[in-house]
Amino acid sequence: MTPIADRVRELRDAIRHHEERYYIHNAPEISDEAFDRLLHELEHLEAEHPELVTPDSPTQRVAGRPAEGFATVEHLVPMLSLDNAYNEEELRAFDERVRKGAEPGEAPVAYVAELKIDGLSIALTYDDGRLVRGATRGDGSRGEDVTINVRTIRAIPLALRNGPPGRIEIRGEVYLPRAAFDRMNREMEAAGEPLYANPRNTAAGTMRNLDPALVSKRGLSAFMYQVVTGASHLPVTYQAPETHAATLTAMRDWSLPVEPHWRRCEDINAVVAFCAEWADGRRTLEFETDGVVIKVDDLALREKLGATAKFPRWATAFKFPAQQAHTVLRRILVSVGRTGAATPYAELEPVLLAGSTISMATLHNADDVARKGVRDGDTVVIEKGGDVIPKVVAPILSLRPPDSVPWVMPTRCPVCDSVLRRDEEEVVWRCENLSCPARIVGSLVHFASRTAMNVEGLGASLVDQLIAQGLVRDFADLYALTVDQLEPLVVAPRDPKSDRAVPRKLGKVGRNVVDQIARSKSNDLSRLIYALGIRHVGEKVAATLARYFRTMDQLRAAPVEALQTAPEIGPVVAASVRAFFDEPRNGVLIDRLRDAGVNMTSQAPEPTDVPGPLAGKTFVLTGTMASMTREQATEALERLGAKVSASVSKKTSYVVYGEEAGTKLEKAQKLGVETLDEAQFHALIMKSTRNQEP
Ligand SMILES: [Zn+2]
Repeated sequence: MTPIADRVRELRDAIRHHEERYYIHNAPEISDEAFDRLLHELEHLEAEHPELVTPDSPTQRVAGRPAEGFATVEHLVPMLSLDNAYNEEELRAFDERVRKGAEPGEAPVAYVAELKIDGLSIALTYDDGRLVRGATRGDGSRGEDVTINVRTIRAIPLALRNGPPGRIEIRGEVYLPRAAFDRMNREMEAAGEPLYANPRNTAAGTMRNLDPALVSKRGLSAFMYQVVTGASHLPVTYQAPETHAATLTAMRDWSLPVEPHWRRCEDINAVVAFCAEWADGRRTLEFETDGVVIKVDDLALREKLGATAKFPRWATAFKFPAQQAHTVLRRILVSVGRTGAATPYAELEPVLLAGSTISMATLHNADDVARKGVRDGDTVVIEKGGDVIPKVVAPILSLRPPDSVPWVMPTRCPVCDSVLRRDEEEVVWRCENLSCPARIVGSLVHFASRTAMNVEGLGASLVDQLIAQGLVRDFADLYALTVDQLEPLVVAPRDPKSDRAVPRKLGKVGRNVVDQIARSKSNDLSRLIYALGIRHVGEKVAATLARYFRTMDQLRAAPVEALQTAPEIGPVVAASVRAFFDEPRNGVLIDRLRDAGVNMTSQAPEPTDVPGPLAGKTFVLTGTMASMTREQATEALERLGAKVSASVSKKTSYVVYGEEAGTKLEKAQKLGVETLDEAQFHALIMKSTRNQEP
């Protein structure tokens, strides 16, 4: 093999290793930047040597897009669903049935209890360790071929590590981690769009999206829990372990993601304890779970127990008690956000649910209200599951007042009375009046929010007052506010305990707010760009634009083509930014912000290619240093232009070693690569930093 081919293989191994650390074990060893560099080096080598590109290279996760929809695939072994158990009694009844089917029949049966992932079932096919297919469950016997999207999920290996030869099918669940879901919803909120209801539906919708590049950005993850055995299309070469516990361990060894909290339970008592433990414990997890899956551990016994037409007899799903409550829906109202989206919601008689008082529940959109058939005055079931805001599940028809009438979506904005409109393909109705007070309040609250200009104390109730008193009409007006104007205002924030609006004079807090507004003038340009509320410009895009264009003037002047040259800025965002600045009123607004003293430049490090003093040098770090973490060392090196690599090769310039350095140090010595101990490393960094200063 050529040295280049060697390096390519080395990079792929290193990248998979770090993907596994990051996406499966949640314990990264290197910074995101260092990881990106590995990936870039690989991309670069593959671009120069296209003959070395293989389908399982990590650079090939996003590859092409399906021409028209997804093909239907047949599951050779049907994907059965599981029978449910809702309480301890039903769990014990399940155990009894299992023990009856076992021989001699009386001894306790061991189970494996796993957290049930609230996502989308998936079947992966590996041929000689290479991922060749990913299919959705569909109706159990027929699903959709979503390989192209499955490949973008970084927790899922494109190639198994020491996997079995021949063909093997692995089943599991694709899910959206809470953090990724929250991030998506923050972006929706910032864009003034209705929020996604829950991670499960969002994950399912994402998997069926026809744009793998978009799927890749959403941050889906996966847990696998089954190796399909006993199917005619599977090779006899794979010697399945004898227990489910051993299967889970084997899958993990193949570098597949396996949810780590599973437990082998000696008998049903241990299973009951596991379920009780996680009914509360689940709130600390990074993903949504709605129950526990209980499977017979002994695979031979499973075979013997078999399946009914619908369910396997050797497994059941325990459902955590749902967090539901009944209350009266006073009326269905419509709120208008800063993009004009008009969203129906339910005003409720306050009720206690999962530890907090609830007086509002979402109804998503007009279609949702129609589907559920809820009406003003109905007694309704509300539920708090994985959803952000509690939702109305259904009306209790037997309690419906005799005079109730079906609800209809208003045709006019409840705030400014403009006619509401919606595009044919959208579910969202919008108020298109740019000066609608609801939209202005929404955009000012966004401007002041923590992730935008971060003006503490400037929430919805104060903004309402500022507008009502005629003190503020736009962002720039905020910077002219005085303490004397603010102190007498009466605001009515909601008390989260009693869930009541409590009016009070702003008083001394007024000075605070004025100070906060003044402080916000020196914010970085990225915050300002985000605060402006340009459609499709979330926090991350704003940061990119600020870093790339440096000043508001350069950004304002950039034509669409120039905007698109910034990293990760596509045509939709570019057009939206251009349209924002082309609106003369927005230009005036920005000039007034500048006159008020608001900072218009970026302080973020410039993305230049100016070579640092260590440019061209590749470092490998091994062992633990006393004075800095590996991330800090990596950062210091990258600031100086050096590359940090995960593995030692002849091309490595230096291997830096700390305590408990391992094989990398040995390899360096074998290859004759220069090595640095912690003190020597510090000396080099100090010297290079001095050289870098102008
Ligand atoms: Zn309106």
